[in-house]
Amino acid sequence: MNAFWKIEAWRILIFVVATLLFGAGIDNYLLAALVGSLIYLAWHLHSLARLDGWLSEYRTAEIPEGSGIWGRVYDRVRGITRHHQQDMDALHRGLERYQQTTKALPEGAVTLGPNDEIELINEAATSLLGLKVPQDVGSPITNLVRDPQFVRYIQDRKFSEALEIPSPINLHVQISIRIVPYGEVNQKLLLVSDVSRLHKLEEIRRDFIANVSHEMKSPLTVIKGYVESMMDDTSEFGLKWKKALSRVDQQTDRMCRVVEDLLQLSSLETSPAESPIPVDMPCLIRSVYSEALELSNGQHGIQLKIDETLYLAGNFNQLYSALSNLVFNAIQYTPERGRISIDWHLDQDNHARFSVRDTGPGIEHEHLPRLTERFYRVDTARSRELGGTGLGLAIVKHVLQRHEGSLAIASEPGKGSTFTCVFAPQRVVDKRVLKSSA
Ligand code: ADP
Repeated sequence: MNAFWKIEAWRILIFVVATLLFGAGIDNYLLAALVGSLIYLAWHLHSLARLDGWLSEYRTAEIPEGSGIWGRVYDRVRGITRHHQQDMDALHRGLERYQQTTKALPEGAVTLGPNDEIELINEAATSLLGLKVPQDVGSPITNLVRDPQFVRYIQDRKFSEALEIPSPINLHVQISIRIVPYGEVNQKLLLVSDVSRLHKLEEIRRDFIANVSHEMKSPLTVIKGYVESMMDDTSEFGLKWKKALSRVDQQTDRMCRVVEDLLQLSSLETSPAESPIPVDMPCLIRSVYSEALELSNGQHGIQLKIDETLYLAGNFNQLYSALSNLVFNAIQYTPERGRISIDWHLDQDNHARFSVRDTGPGIEHEHLPRLTERFYRVDTARSRELGGTGLGLAIVKHVLQRHEGSLAIASEPGKGSTFTCVFAPQRVVDKRVLKSSA
């Protein structure tokens, strides 16, 4: 038994003895026992009331002193509050260190609560996003950063890629925003950085390629014209150089195609997004199909399956270019007697899907993520031999980006490849609805 309980035991013993003496004195043990118990109970209630009083203002008041069992209780509570205070101090110091670290970050950081309300902001974020502390803390970030692209980015919750937009307070500053979800209740860390320099460099690169391509276009046309007329020359000179001229002609054609593709890519990158109009996809795909039949010249079995009611909001020429690139690749890379299936349908999630499946050579898995890079070819010599520029899939990727779509590639060496364009549900147009509203 420890000291507190010993004191309490002595106290009870003295109480009992005093009660017995009192009972003997008044010759009524029952009354004495009742009085004694009431006094003991009153003492406990008094101690309990002191504890309750202290608990109601424990942050400022000192815990009461006591003896016996109540001394023990007060001591234990004192120990718990001391530990609690130490934990709180450590937490406070940690939070302060965290705030100092994020304050020193050159990147902006904002923590968002479950409803995208601002919880913490560092200094860089205030200057890049134009937020104010403490006024903006607690407000949903989309009420303060109103750029439509940013609002859509937050709503769509597809945070795997960063978003680049002009800073809301300075349109000359380009910012990159990345969101990292964390915690169990949909909290997010928003990171924002100034990418104006990179953006400028990217702009210079795009302009440079577009200018070089433009500059090359006219000389190539002139060279092509001269080579063609020299090839028509039936004199001894013409016949002697015919083979060499034909090679020059082929290479000039290739250069022209590269220049055309580069110009198309730069226009896809730089021209502002035009408002989408419903495109008659069944008609577009059928005309790609007839070109494919011509290109294949009966060497492949080409199957076509189209949902006739499925239209898409977008740009006819761009879609034609993307879809024909995929179909012509399938024809070019699939050997004679191979099969190609073209399919256009709506999936269960309301995404429109255009897929081209072939029984060609297939592609090794390691190449798949890089296929849409400019000039990336699995077999450069073969691509050149087939008249490829190495830019076709880069064009497809850019067209799909402009149409809220993505490209999925599945391939197995020796078995063939499937290239699928997936378009977002908001781009899907039902021909029947279109007709009835016209
Ligand atoms: P290219 O002009 O060389 O065809 P693309 O960008 O269209 O350029 O394609 C990039 C590379 O992807 C090609 O060089 C080829 O190696 C590979 N590729 C594209 N489509 C297919 C296909 N259907 N089957 C096999 N390989 C393909």
